[in-house]
Amino acid sequence: MSTVDSTSPSGSLVIAVDGTSGSGKSSTSRGVAERLGLRYLDTGAMFRAMTWWLLREGIDVRDEAAVAAAAGRPTIESGTDPLAPTITVDGTDVSVAIRADEVNAAVSPVSAVPEVRARLLELQRKAIGEGGIVVEGRDIGSVVWPQAEVKVYLSADPDARAQRRTAEQGGTDVARTQQSLLERDRIDSGRATAPLTMAEGAVHVDSTHLTLAEVIDRIVALATRARRA
Ligand code: C5P
Repeated sequence: MSTVDSTSPSGSLVIAVDGTSGSGKSSTSRGVAERLGLRYLDTGAMFRAMTWWLLREGIDVRDEAAVAAAAGRPTIESGTDPLAPTITVDGTDVSVAIRADEVNAAVSPVSAVPEVRARLLELQRKAIGEGGIVVEGRDIGSVVWPQAEVKVYLSADPDARAQRRTAEQGGTDVARTQQSLLERDRIDSGRATAPLTMAEGAVHVDSTHLTLAEVIDRIVALATRARRA
């Protein structure tokens, strides 16, 4: 376990980490939060939790009006300890269930519904609160917290992303994983509300040829510079 950096910026600092699916946002964001003694918020898990709940309720996730009408019902709570992040829906721990294939397939269409985004935006801003947090997602630097002191856009080649994600999940079908990642990128980038985009002022980090430790080091350096500025 890494120790907290003694020169760590804290307090109101917000580090926004956006990027494509499977680019390493979660491992990177958690690592940066640990190093700097900050909290960590996985906004993707919130969209996944909403999707899991809609599927469980038997709501047609392709029916935008039905999804919009239901979006206010579940209580979604995120724990922000980078060493043990949690996500619950109406008090049930869904941290494993939200990674299932059926959630992967439905989460991007659900996330394109404006009422879903509005509901989760409110929860996200409340969780960020006074700051001191690393927040990962697709629209953090552009919409959720455009005033973030550090904004990173993380990407990697589709081949590298698919290989890493397949290995993480203990699978073997790299082609199928790649197809799923690219389909999510396509929907996330093309939606009308808060699409995946590189936010103004974001630093682009391509992690294709970098180790996790190297990516974390770069972001910690950006945060240290931001604190001195
Ligand atoms: O980050 P993760 O891959 O878990 O996110 C799952 C999905 O949630 C994304 O593909 C996207 O559709 C949605 N999402 C979003 N905005 C965010 C975070 C995630 O639309 N800030």
